[in-house]
Amino acid sequence: MSAASPELVIELRTEDSAAVLGCAPAVLGPIREDAAFRGVLAGVFPNDGRPPQFEIELRLAGAARDRVESIALRAADAPEARYPWTAFEEQALCLVERLIAERRLEPGTRSRWHLRPGAEAPAARRRPRARLRGEPYPLRDAALAAGRAPGAFEVAIAEPVLEAGRKQLLSGGSIESAALLLGRLYRDPRSGAARLVVLDQVELAPGRGGASLTHFALDARSFADAARVARARSGLDLAGWLHTHPACADCARKPECARDTVFFSTDDYQVHASAFARAYQVALVVGKLGDRPASAPGFRLYAWDAGRISELDFQVED
Ligand SMILES: [Zn+2]
Repeated sequence: MSAASPELVIELRTEDSAAVLGCAPAVLGPIREDAAFRGVLAGVFPNDGRPPQFEIELRLAGAARDRVESIALRAADAPEARYPWTAFEEQALCLVERLIAERRLEPGTRSRWHLRPGAEAPAARRRPRARLRGEPYPLRDAALAAGRAPGAFEVAIAEPVLEAGRKQLLSGGSIESAALLLGRLYRDPRSGAARLVVLDQVELAPGRGGASLTHFALDARSFADAARVARARSGLDLAGWLHTHPACADCARKPECARDTVFFSTDDYQVHASAFARAYQVALVVGKLGDRPASAPGFRLYAWDAGRISELDFQVED
């Protein structure tokens, strides 16, 4: 099966697969973006901001050939980029959360999901397709350390940015807060490896939706305000975002508390997928690590990885 833009559906079923619990359209944007970025790093696509025209082939499985096993993206002159169905795991988790929020699913229900071809509902009207804005990647040529594989991606963060994050967490009480991360993206023309260096941050005003312990509402207006400030800092590009996951008051009183608040939530995924969709944009979460007291916060970095989000080690620069 081959099509320019097949419609795919994430279907959640009971564990014995007897009944459908809910569906959501699968968004192919993250794997398209991954394939485009890798192609630009490898030098097979021009860095002109135009999304490559991929031909998409589905590999189907199951007795009824109704399950997508993997998706191949092909473009002229480029090696095939193939993604397993599990590339949509975060989107499936968002569906689970939505069904729980709508009280259509009991929390803790054992379920499984799969990807199938077809529209969510045959009669459903086509949604307007979200298009990434046609901007080239802000790549600068640089000689990076030897031994990097083509397409390798590494991140370094300046210590003052981390210090600002720790302060933001410790001064914020129990309220989640956030900042835009600014930096520079380098590409080694010899190896095709990339390095993102985060050099600065601009704090975001809390959204009108209200921030709380577990949720940062990314308000369009505060995002636009911060982006304006960021643009004025010449020479830096939008590298991603930082946000806090505060410890509870109990952790702060008990240094021996082993609670760990630094993770990437489905809310975080939705913010990241909508506002930081480019393949090099990262999410830095600051909070209480399990092995450290709440007064000495720690970080985890999350990055796009073949259409999914993975934790990524980072270097610290002075
Ligand atoms: Zn979060």
